[in-house]
Amino acid sequence: ALTAGIVGLPNVGKSTLFNAITKAGAESANYPFCTIDPNVGIVEVPDARLNKLTEMVEPKKTVPTAFEFTDIAGIVKGASKGEGLGNKFLAHIREVDAICQVVRCFADDNITHVSGKVDPIDDIEVINLELILADLETVDKRLVRVAKLAKQKDKEAVAENDVLVKLKEALEANKPARTVELSEEQNRIAKQLHLLTAKPMLYVANVGEEDIVDPSENEYVQKVREFAAEDNAEVIVVCAKIEEEIAELDDEEKAMFLQELGIEESGLDQLIRAAYSLLGLATYFTAGVQEVRAWTFRQGMKAPQCAGIIHSDFERGFIRAEIVSYDDLVEAGSMTAAKEAGKVRLEGKEYIMKDGDVVHFRFNV
Ligand code: GDP
Repeated sequence: ALTAGIVGLPNVGKSTLFNAITKAGAESANYPFCTIDPNVGIVEVPDARLNKLTEMVEPKKTVPTAFEFTDIAGIVKGASKGEGLGNKFLAHIREVDAICQVVRCFADDNITHVSGKVDPIDDIEVINLELILADLETVDKRLVRVAKLAKQKDKEAVAENDVLVKLKEALEANKPARTVELSEEQNRIAKQLHLLTAKPMLYVANVGEEDIVDPSENEYVQKVREFAAEDNAEVIVVCAKIEEEIAELDDEEKAMFLQELGIEESGLDQLIRAAYSLLGLATYFTAGVQEVRAWTFRQGMKAPQCAGIIHSDFERGFIRAEIVSYDDLVEAGSMTAAKEAGKVRLEGKEYIMKDGDVVHFRFNV
């Protein structure tokens, strides 16, 4: 499964956020295929469409789709030099598909800051530098081999050499690989390097309780936003401490609590949705009277592959899919009405699934 890794300097609120994630945790009985690992937190992906489908179909059971966060502890200055737990830390980051970097944006004199003062950009740069240095090493190593072949006019080597030089330039200028503009072909070459700074990055600005309603008042958050814009990264604002409290509430209590605070969606829910789309994930639905359920697929997947997410037999025996878009279904009011209105399509093996498709797969066993 795809996962987003949570990183950050000590004392920025990582554990508090990860606690919120595990407490909010998905009911594991519904997700037997998910990882069982204390460093992995499984959360349900909030999706208002699922509630609407449940109202419409009135199934016995409704199951949201799930998403995994991995807690990656132990960043230290000098990680790229292999100091302390450094190497292990970088190895863990290499395994995740996106990075959520928690950044301290709350002032609290009782909680010490590793560098002595709250400065989110400084903190971000400490971590990013380690990732950049590690990538620079990867690029340099590769460059030694490829440059030789490129000199002999080996076509593939010349192409790779160009990419490596571009990446090296950016990294030496302290820019992450994800900011480098590459053609599709160059991107394919760059992907094989598995660079850390090529992974999508999301900054999680952890603010104090007083800033949760209007984070734009918080100057640290503003700085992080400015930085992220240059860095080709996204920003989500949370108050980890409040998220930890919210995670203990049931749905109804949670809604009331948020209403009292005057916020529409909890920071954690925003984070889950942001990480989900950052990873290029999308959702399709199955809507039967037994069960209404959301399923995660990767954007670009075809109908048979998507059927295979439910069960491998569905992929092997795939015949076709009956599909109606969520919007069309809601507009029609019911599946029967959608059929009568000609909104339910029959799609074959080559159909590329879309976010919000409501599907019934037909297959041979
Ligand atoms: P970690 O070292 O990054 O895992 O940080 P922790 O989650 O252990 O948090 C460090 C300290 O900061 C703890 O005492 C937390 O209670 C506190 N903390 C975390 N988030 C917040 C927050 O949003 N507001 C305030 N005031 N304190 C927080």
